[in-house]
Amino acid sequence: MYLAKIYEYASARMFFHNPLHPYTKMLLSSVPVLTDDEEALKPKDVKSMGEVSSAINPPSGCRFHPRCPFATKICKAKEPEFVLAEQGHYVACHLYTKKR
Ligand code: SF4
Repeated sequence: MYLAKIYEYASARMFFHNPLHPYTKMLLSSVPVLTDDEEALKPKDVKSMGEVSSAINPPSGCRFHPRCPFATKICKAKEPEFVLAEQGHYVACHLYTKKR
């Protein structure tokens, strides 16, 4: 959930072992860990950046677009729909709606 909107839905195992949404990856990459094994599980392709936008006046389109390293023009203009990315794993992100 980001700025009061759900962006990814999956079992706990899928969520932690194969996160899909860039915000989920950013969130998990920021979690402090104790061991190298735990560190190895953390996503590496999205580093935390930017400031959290206002929840009262959220950004247009995908609310995460001001902080997303993969944002494109459509992200600012259109809110992504929830799509089934894999069995039991739903994500709202234009990176996945384009693949359908
Ligand atoms: S919809 Fe666009 S801005 Fe939002 S998470 Fe996906 S790529 Fe990033």
